[in-house]
Amino acid sequence: MSALPGLDDCVHCGLCLPVCPTYAIDRRESQNPRGRIAALRAIEEGRSAPTPGLLRGLDDCLVCRACESACPSGISMEGLMMEHRSRTSDARSDGRTVAERWFLRAVVSSPGVLDRFLGVARLGRSLLPAALLPDTPGPSRLRPARAASPPAATSRLSTETKGRAVLLRGCIADRVQDRETRLAARLLSHFGFEVSISAPGCCGALQRHSGLVDLARELSLERARDLLSGEPDAIVVDSAGCGSALHEPLSDAPELHAVAERGTDTPSLLATIGLPPPPHPIPGPVVFAPPCHQSHGTRSTEATRSLLEHITEGEVVLLPGEEQCCGAAGTYFLRRPAKSRQLGERAKERWERGGRVKTLATGNPGCLLRWESLLRREPGVEVAHPVTLAARAYGLESEER
Ligand code: SF4
Ligand code: SF4
Repeated sequence: MSALPGLDDCVHCGLCLPVCPTYAIDRRESQNPRGRIAALRAIEEGRSAPTPGLLRGLDDCLVCRACESACPSGISMEGLMMEHRSRTSDARSDGRTVAERWFLRAVVSSPGVLDRFLGVARLGRSLLPAALLPDTPGPSRLRPARAASPPAATSRLSTETKGRAVLLRGCIADRVQDRETRLAARLLSHFGFEVSISAPGCCGALQRHSGLVDLARELSLERARDLLSGEPDAIVVDSAGCGSALHEPLSDAPELHAVAERGTDTPSLLATIGLPPPPHPIPGPVVFAPPCHQSHGTRSTEATRSLLEHITEGEVVLLPGEEQCCGAAGTYFLRRPAKSRQLGERAKERWERGGRVKTLATGNPGCLLRWESLLRREPGVEVAHPVTLAARAYGLESEER
């Protein structure tokens, strides 16, 4: 019996192979879920040393979780990778792993340090030509942090209060999709919710992926206490990676379970009240590229798709091969830049195959950055968070700059 949960449950059926993005670009067994599980077992049972080759195959996993949705044995690749990376953490001394861990421990975990770091990045990005930094976001997406403040008053459609909702600001999400958080606050307020926005701060999702489990647990508990302080009915997280992490508590702490029970996103919360027809529908078609952690973590894509269909005049289509990760995957684009770029190119090809639809909706900071970077030279194309499109359809977008 293996000490890693689920490791003995693989029946080698191979149903996970067609959905694994790393296997799609490199058809070796070490690059698919079945091979990764076999490698972990061999290391666990002492039949093989953790050689650089075995570790590389394991590190190449994006933790996109597509294999989890395909697996009949219910194996959690996220759980396995988190445990494996946590156990091997101290033995790693390669430059990229060390840099990634420093970034996650010292920068991302502290809002003040993150802000100074992104200030320097913003300056560098605006001074250096884009050709030198092809995978980094443009300065317009790296916004300075705003002071914590309640959402500005907005027109209300209903006088009946639908409940109290608090929105997570997050860390990277707070800089990349701060505007979207404020638009979500306007939307929810417009439809009758009492809305507040949390203080900025990391929920531990990125640290969890990289095996910094103790730090991830500590950060998620800090966020949980902050989010629960106003006794909300709903905790709204519009960043799929953070939503997925908060959905699956890392300990028995009651605060973490309370957050998981009340956790939702703006489309799912709006679906509970039923929306009137939008006064300014979005011209279709719209292509929906669901983030991996929305498809395979929170599993809340249906509500987003329904919201998009409700607000769009015309067709809403799913991105062809939507289960294949775009390659952003948390800090993967820093850790495995060549593979991440390859996956990005394949994602763009799927967008082209799907008819080059001009409006692409996706609800996660990493995916927004990745798609903006992939489609930035395509004339007339907009990459938007579903919340932005909904706010526009209800005439609320122009109130928020
Ligand atoms: S999590 Fe994603 S990359 Fe990793 S094995 Fe599963 S499908 Fe492949
Ligand atoms: S689908 Fe699950 S059980 Fe089948 S090979 Fe993949 S990991 Fe193993």
